Amino acid sequence: MKRIGIFVCHCGTNISGTLDIERIVQEIARFPEVVYAVDYKYMCSDPGQKLIREHVAEDRLDAVIVAACSPAMHESTFRRTAESVGVNPYQTEIANIREQASWVHQKQQEAATNKAIEAIRTIVAKVHYNQSLTPYYLPLVKRALVIGGGIAGLQAALDVADAGYPVVLVEKADHLGGRMAELSGLYLNMDGAQDHLRQKIEAVVNHPNIQVLTRAEVAEAGGYVGNFVIKVEQREEGQALSEGVGQALSEGVGEALSEGVGEALSEGVGEALSEGVGEAAAGGPVPYTFDIGAIVVATGFDLYDKGRLGEYGGGRYPDVIDGLQLEEMLRPDGPTGGQIRRPSDGQVPREIAWIQCAGSRDPELHMPYCSKVCCMYVAKQAMAYKQQVPDGQATVFYIDIRSQGKGYEEFVQRAMEEHDVLYVRGKASKVWQEGGADDTGPGRVVVWGVDTLTGLPVEVQADLVVLATATVPRAGAQELGQRLHASTDEHGFFSEAHPKLRPVESLTAGVYLAGAAQFPKDIPETVAQASGAASKVLSLFSQRQMVQEPTIAYVDPELCSGCGLCIPACPYEARTMHDWQHIAVVNTALCQGCAACTMVCPNKACQVRNLTHQQILSMMEAYL
Ligand SMILES: Cc1cc2nc3c(=O)[nH]c(=O)nc-3n(C[C@H](O)[C@H](O)[C@H](O)COP(=O)(O)OP(=O)(O)OC[C@H]3O[C@@H](n4cnc5c(N)ncnc54)[C@H](O)[C@@H]3O)c2cc1C
Ligand code: SF4
Ligand code: SF4
Ligand code: SF4
Repeated sequence: MKRIGIFVCHCGTNISGTLDIERIVQEIARFPEVVYAVDYKYMCSDPGQKLIREHVAEDRLDAVIVAACSPAMHESTFRRTAESVGVNPYQTEIANIREQASWVHQKQQEAATNKAIEAIRTIVAKVHYNQSLTPYYLPLVKRALVIGGGIAGLQAALDVADAGYPVVLVEKADHLGGRMAELSGLYLNMDGAQDHLRQKIEAVVNHPNIQVLTRAEVAEAGGYVGNFVIKVEQREEGQALSEGVGQALSEGVGEALSEGVGEALSEGVGEALSEGVGEAAAGGPVPYTFDIGAIVVATGFDLYDKGRLGEYGGGRYPDVIDGLQLEEMLRPDGPTGGQIRRPSDGQVPREIAWIQCAGSRDPELHMPYCSKVCCMYVAKQAMAYKQQVPDGQATVFYIDIRSQGKGYEEFVQRAMEEHDVLYVRGKASKVWQEGGADDTGPGRVVVWGVDTLTGLPVEVQADLVVLATATVPRAGAQELGQRLHASTDEHGFFSEAHPKLRPVESLTAGVYLAGAAQFPKDIPETVAQASGAASKVLSLFSQRQMVQEPTIAYVDPELCSGCGLCIPACPYEARTMHDWQHIAVVNTALCQGCAACTMVCPNKACQVRNLTHQQILSMMEAYL
């Protein structure tokens, strides 16, 4: 017999506003093995947790049930609380009476109260069979891999390396910096992107704990959190690391920094390097193999191919360009020395029209989502143009302005009020260039649309049209995701484990996300997320060993017939056949306890600890 204590939380009025707490406590106090039942306003507060501790001691409880919010919120809190007074953490369970009762049945108070009582009854039935378990401890390699050397990857690498851990930074291109290396001034104060970037790149390439591999990509990935084995291939045969790092800076960003980087490798990094260099194959890319504990994916974004925006003349007319092409012109080290010029004839444009949401927010033809950065960079570019050509005309076609961020709204207002940028509310419907189709040379570019505020058609004759094209995932992101077993969404961006509660984690343990690889983001947001991803890596590395939950699958060798049905059923590739016995085995490190394998096993040979068939049946019996 167990001695179970049940603690019912009001969650302010989140639960008590709908459920009859008094009746719940009366009813559950009568359940078998329940020796104590009480309610409290906020169980997760300090006094709430103190109540648990006091009654574990006073009533000699060996199991605790907290009837409260989802286990995703506070299961670990309550397990720690009960453990602090000697209750095995796997003898503490949550009955979710908030998300599954009070919130979803606000208008049926009596029925919701009954449902909560039944939910608690089933958890009591489960707890009856719960075993006291101890977590597994697995080895942990404290070296991080960062994939992508844009601002997200640079920041994540620096944060991890500054904490004293070796980092391998793999960048596909021949230089670091990503898209930021292509930008001119940055909103809000037009400070030079290259100055900020240069500082970050210098810090990275000179960092004793960071090994940079440019022109390199992840070719294979195996293993699991704490123990990944990553194969990287670097293009160009025989290219020494210091050379690669020397070229890590694009021409635009600054001069080479090869000096010192070779010696600057820490012990860990040195080992990691030597592992791979020895394997260099003649004639092909240079292969490296690294043991890695955690991975940060920071592969960034591409712009939607403007050639697919035929209605806006994208890819058809030389004087219809995208946002990055204009950034290139605006960069002091760009081909026009920072001056905006019409590509067709090199003339200063007297009028420029920007078309926002070009390919974004268009579920029928293009991408359905908002690309998030374009409202802001269009305002920035329009201001930069007006500063260069004060009597020029800047016109922006927009659907609505989405400028979320500190000072962002005011920045767009400044473009309108102080720089006379004309904002036309309405989607441009057609763009064509006069004289472009024959030998008369390119004429003006005509943008035709409707002003949705006045309902009147608008025609703008511009010298240059800038399409604020949609932001899409980098080419190859999906293939990389498959290699890492990290899922991507329907558009190809890397999926976070939970949009609210785990925004920097992927669904694969040990793989974290940073920057525009996850969804369009500007630089401040990218840097914040990169530091968030790095802090997840550091919290993993702060452990002496990898701790794995014991509530995972196991195979009873007496019952397993070796049919192998459970192997493809496992979404985490945690199941294989034993090397020489004809039975299935579970990889402790990979298993997430999802129980998919238990559903397909015809022999009931496979069970999940503390969620056994016996427990599920007893919960159903308790309910019926
Ligand atoms: C026209 C324009 C103007 C902008 N202006 C501003 C501005 O003024 N202010 C602002 O805050 N933001 C601005 N932004 C947004 C800014 O560019 C992004 O926030 C930022 O670049 C995101 O950084 P990132 O590191 O996530 O991605 P990226 O900059 O795209 O970097 C990703 C890196 O990963 C590498 N990579 C990709 N795949 C792989 C792979 N498989 N293996 C290895 N490496 C890989 C890429 O080569 C690249 O170096 C602008 C964007 C655009 C399009
Ligand atoms: S950020 Fe602005 S321009 Fe870009 S897709 Fe969203 S609403 Fe359109
Ligand atoms: S419980 Fe889920 S993750 Fe674990 S072995 Fe079974 S199917 Fe795979
Ligand atoms: S499905 Fe069941 S019986 Fe078949 S191999 Fe897997 S554990 Fe063994």
